[in-house]
Order: sequence, then C-alpha cells, then structure tokens
Amino acid sequence: MFSKILIANRGEIACRVAATCRRLGIRTVAVYSDADADARHVAFCDEAVHIGGAAARDSYLRADHIIEMAKETGAQAIHPGYGFLSENEAFAEACAAAGLVFIGPPASAIHAMGSKSAAKQLMEKASVPLVPGYHGEHQDAGLLRRESDRIGYPVLLKASAGGGGKGMRVVESGDAFEAALASVKREASASFGDDKVLVEKYLTRPRHIEIQVFADTHGNCVYLFERDCSVQRRHQKVLEEAPAPGMTAERRRAMGEAAVAAAKAVGYVGAGTVEFIANQDGSFYFMEMNTRLQVEHPVTEMITGQDLVEWQLRVAAGEPLPLKQDQLRIDGHALEARIYAENPDKQFLPSTGTLRFLRTPPAVQFMRGGDAHGPAGVRIDAGVREGDTISPYYDPMIAKLIVWGKDRDEALARMRQALAAYHVVGLSTNVAFLQRLVKSEAFRTADLDTGLIERNEATLFPQPAPVGMEIIALAVAALLDRETRERHIDAADQHSPWTHAGAWRLNGGATRTLRFAYGSHTLDVTLTANARGSTLIYADQAAPFKAACQADDIRVDLGTRRAHGQVHVERDDFHVFNAGRHAVLGWLDPLAHAGETEGEGGKLTAPMPGKVIAVMVEPGSTVTRGTPLLVMEAMKMEHTISAPADGVVSEILFGVGEQVTEGAQLLAFATGES
Ligand code: ADP
Ligand code: ADP
Ligand code: MG
Repeated sequence: MFSKILIANRGEIACRVAATCRRLGIRTVAVYSDADADARHVAFCDEAVHIGGAAARDSYLRADHIIEMAKETGAQAIHPGYGFLSENEAFAEACAAAGLVFIGPPASAIHAMGSKSAAKQLMEKASVPLVPGYHGEHQDAGLLRRESDRIGYPVLLKASAGGGGKGMRVVESGDAFEAALASVKREASASFGDDKVLVEKYLTRPRHIEIQVFADTHGNCVYLFERDCSVQRRHQKVLEEAPAPGMTAERRRAMGEAAVAAAKAVGYVGAGTVEFIANQDGSFYFMEMNTRLQVEHPVTEMITGQDLVEWQLRVAAGEPLPLKQDQLRIDGHALEARIYAENPDKQFLPSTGTLRFLRTPPAVQFMRGGDAHGPAGVRIDAGVREGDTISPYYDPMIAKLIVWGKDRDEALARMRQALAAYHVVGLSTNVAFLQRLVKSEAFRTADLDTGLIERNEATLFPQPAPVGMEIIALAVAALLDRETRERHIDAADQHSPWTHAGAWRLNGGATRTLRFAYGSHTLDVTLTANARGSTLIYADQAAPFKAACQADDIRVDLGTRRAHGQVHVERDDFHVFNAGRHAVLGWLDPLAHAGETEGEGGKLTAPMPGKVIAVMVEPGSTVTRGTPLLVMEAMKMEHTISAPADGVVSEILFGVGEQVTEGAQLLAFATGES
C-alpha cells in the first residue's frame, strides 16, 4: 500500500478521499489555487501545495505542474477525484511516465470511453444494448439531419466529448434541427474543444440507472449493484438512490453483467460506472461509461458497507479486489441529495457568497470503515465549513447529504428530517426545493423518470406559503434580543429580556408596532405589554408571548403553544428556521432611512461573473420583449440575457470572449416609449 498520495482535486471529494487515507494511515498532499488557500480540503490533508491561480486551467488542470509537485512531496500516487483531470488520458499517461501511480483506470480505457460515439461502437461489438441512433464518424449537417429523420423525432443531439449534462439538446421536429445542432456544436467546442455530435432516439419517461463496477489487475471484475439517478434537472442529477426501486433480481443481474462486459471490453481497472437509460418496462440501453469515482458513490457505500475509495487505493496498489461477486450484498436503502448554492426561484442560477451561517443535522462525516452509515443513518460529505465561500470558479455544490434506512420509507423519513435541519444563510440554496421534491407524491411513491421535476413544476415551485404566528414570534424574539444586547440592558435574566418588558418599553410605550417585509408582502405585528406579560398580535390572532434565547436558538411560548427555531440575523434580515422552513423576514426599521428604490433603468447587467459567449444583436437593433440579446457562460452554464421590454439596443458594452464581473452592465437599452 502507498504511504503518501497527492489528491489532485478540491472540495468535498478531496476531503472524502483524504478521510479514507487517514483511516488507512496514508499521508495526503492537498493542492490548492489562489481561491482555495483557506479551503477545508487544505486543512484536511497532511500537507498542501499551492499550484496557481483561481481559474481551473491555472491550477487544478495544470497536469505537469501537479505531477511535479507529487514528485517533489514524495507522493507515490495521485488520486484525481471526479471532474478536473480524472478522465484525462494524457494525465494518466504522464503520471505513469513520471513513475507515479494514477489512481484510476489505464489511459487506454479512458480513451476508449472518452468519446461517447467511439464507446458506443465498441459496446456494439461487445453486444451491450444501445439506444437506436447514429454514432458514426460523419458530421455533415445534412447527413445528421437525415439520420435524425430516419430515427424519428424527438431525438437527442449529444456532444460526443460531453459530460456534466452539457452539450445536449432535444430536437422535437425536423424544423428545429438546424438551430439545435448549431447550439450543441457551440457549447461542445466551447466546453470540450470538440464539436463532434451523435444522435440518439430521445426516450420518453426513461429512468437513469447506472451500475458501479470495479476491476483489479488480476482479471477480477465485479458490479456493486445499481444506483437510480432519474431525478434530474437539465440532465444533471439532483437525487440519487440505491437500490433502484422496483428492480428485480434477474434485471439486476442482467444489468450488472452487461456493465461488467462493458468494462472488460476496454480492459478496465479500478472504479467505473456504466450508465444505462431504461424504459419503464425495464429494457435498458448503454449510455456511457464514466471512468472515475462518481459523485453519487456514497449511496453504494451505504448499502454495501464498502469504502470505494479504499477499494480504489488497494486496486491501484496492485492488490486484488477485497470481495468477490457472491460476497457482495445489499443492505437497506440509501438516498443522496446534492445541496447546491443556487436559486431555484431564478432558474437555478448559481449563487456565490459566504456561508455566513451553517447548521447541519447530526451526521457522520464521510465514509467510516466498518460502519457504513453511522448511528443516525445520516452522512454528510462536505468541502466547506461555516465562514467559507462558494466562489464562481468551481462547481457550486455545498455538500452531499446521504441517508440510510432499512427500507426506502425509512430512508425518506430520515432525508426529510435531515433536510429540515440543514440551515444555510449567506447564499441561496436548493434545500427548500429538495424538501418539496422528497415530499412530492411522485418521489415518495417512486414513480421515477427523468421528467419528474418538469412534470411536477406546479408543486415543486409553489408561491411562498404565508408565515404563521410561530415564525413571526421567533423573528420578534430575535429582534428584541438584539435590541437588548445592543443597548446593553442589564436585565436580571439576559436570556429572556421581554419578561422584563425590555428595550421597547424604554422607548416610552407599552405598545409597539413592528413591520416586516416578507416577499412582496408587508406584515404588521403589534406587541403590547403590561404587568401580566406581553401579547403578540398579528392579522386576526392574538396570543400571550414569552421568549427565551440561547444565541441563535430561540424558544417562544404563544399561550399554550410552544415553538422552537433558529434565527440568524443579517443586518435587518431575520432568517427564521422553524419546522423545516426557512423564512426571511426583513425588518422595516422605522428609524432607518427609507431605502432608495432601484429601477433597472434600461441597464442589463450580468447576474453573476462569467464570460460573454454570444451577442445576438447590434447597436440599433429593434427588439421585442423576451428577444435573446446576449449569452453569458458562468459556472458551466449558459445564461441568456433577454430584452426586458420592447425597445432598441443602444449600446453593446462587451464582446464575445470578454470576462464580466457580477453586476456589470452588458448592454444599454431604450424601451419603446422613450
Ligand atoms: P456524475 O454522474 O458523477 O454526476 P457528471 O458527469 O455529472 O457525473 O460530473 C461529475 C462532476 O464532474 C461534476 O459535479 C462536475 O464537477 C465535474 N464535471 C463534469 N463535467 C464537467 C465539465 N465539462 N467541466 C467541468 N467539470 C465537470
Ligand atoms: P453526461 O455525460 O452529460 O452525463 P449522458 O449521456 O450520461 O451525458 O446523459 C445525461 C442524461 O441525459 C441522462 O441521465 C438522461 O437523463 C438524459 N439522456 C441521455 N440520453 C438520453 C436518451 N437517449 N433519451 C432520453 N434521455 C436521455
Ligand atoms: Mg452521464
């Protein structure tokens, strides 16, 4: 076994790999960019080397430099994690040439699976079932169009070199073909430097079911069962689970054996995932093979009790696989939710910023040898701590929340509870969205397919529910507590100042009206106090009010009802976490200056830092509301800036390829009336 390895990655996966190394007594070397000097993975490893600038190409993608650093620090092997250099065959080769072990498959296997079209040609020979489509060499637009017509619409155009759900367009009819092809090619060459595409029949209501495989250098190859990753948004996984609901033993064996055949066809070694797309009747087709450890590998660890990073290390060190196929078992059910810094109410725009407040449910961190799921059945794999930032440079994943239960229902109940206890302030997250998703009828009853989110939009994106007395009382308690502390009131019991009337009474009245903004609503709350105590009045309700605060943890009594919650205050925003909800109440301080109302003023600004990748208009162009004006790329996604109204583009301030900062004005625009 190795005594020291370098981890060529960042974030949760770098920490996760380091955790296993620590358990096995292997020293770890972290690498970090300018943006990551204080990152958790740096603190988590035994040593760390600075490798360059914030942009991935200046640091985490600097193959030669990373190899040099591995040699300089005396590491014997490099673990690439996922993303970055993990599926880069030149890097795998360069490691070998430098006398380092690449903890992953042979370069030849990465090469064979690197192009989706070439991989499909190989799989065809190995008799692995394929989706009807075209994956040939010819790239002539006319030919691709004829192939699509032959296959029958809808078809899916995919970048051969693609990954991460990028470079894919569904084409509903022949009319839409040309525009879709141009857009896939643009995205493919920008993201993967290769605009080759393939065409597939677009299956309706399919499920994404993938098989974890493992092979060693002694000719053994096993499958560690399946993961169902059907719950996706824009072809990116949102929730994953193992085993797949409804899977039969025969089908599991058939898929497992097809996956092993796929791996053997390319001389695979190490951890790999064979992704299949399956029809509701269970028939399945090969989609692609990911030649690395997958983001969602923890659900497999939870049900098999195996540490897949330990397996990777053993295989890379030349040991045989720890278990044979007939020694592997499925125990219980596991679910994983990817917690992202993004805003579900704004088309899931990635959100950057500081995790100013972060409270998580009781959980084990990463994989624990011999104890797959920990006593609470909850595991968190995270690369960030409170106070850390989510920068625009890398994937905006905050953490993976993984739960285990003896069956799917128990796992679901744990997931609901764990999500309700996952509290973040400082940036937008998808936590509330995930909560609605796991509670949805479709997910609860395992009525799974890749269109689940789209089909259930109405329930997954509801109007914000009105807030009740509990949430208001918690915000009021936090406000009074803050005032008491700010004014240094020397109350006998500092934790429950309002039992003594508190600051507001000093202001000269026993009645006080507090006004909060909640979304587009204004909430008027009245507090009255007399010798017998306080009363809280809101809408048509009135209740006796008492509160006790222990830092962020607040308890309120409303007559006979008691409510607990956490309230984190950011300036005048009261973030109330209560009964699984996160409500933001903005206190409208009557003493503060009335905020100047900001109009867009005909400016069109960048919603986040990124790069301009296309400009569709010219100065003087007359456009109607909703016309796409410019496309930006930020955090691996395209964002289209559209005309806010009918009008004329008066100026274009950035050209294609230019980098823009958040809030930068991109275009000047004059509306029709002016
Ligand atoms: P998985 O099935 O494991 O989620 P994905 O293909 O979605 O596999 O990608 C895994 C990870 O690799 C992503 O979370 C992302 O960070 C990274 N990744 C994938 N494709 C790209 C890409 N084109 N550019 C940068 N990172 C990528
Ligand atoms: P990536 O490399 O980005 O992961 P995949 O080929 O694995 O690309 O496809 C990603 C997702 O797109 C799948 O999980 C599935 O939801 C959807 N998808 C891919 N191929 C098809 C298809 N032929 N029909 C319907 N959906 C598909
Ligand atoms: Mg895939």
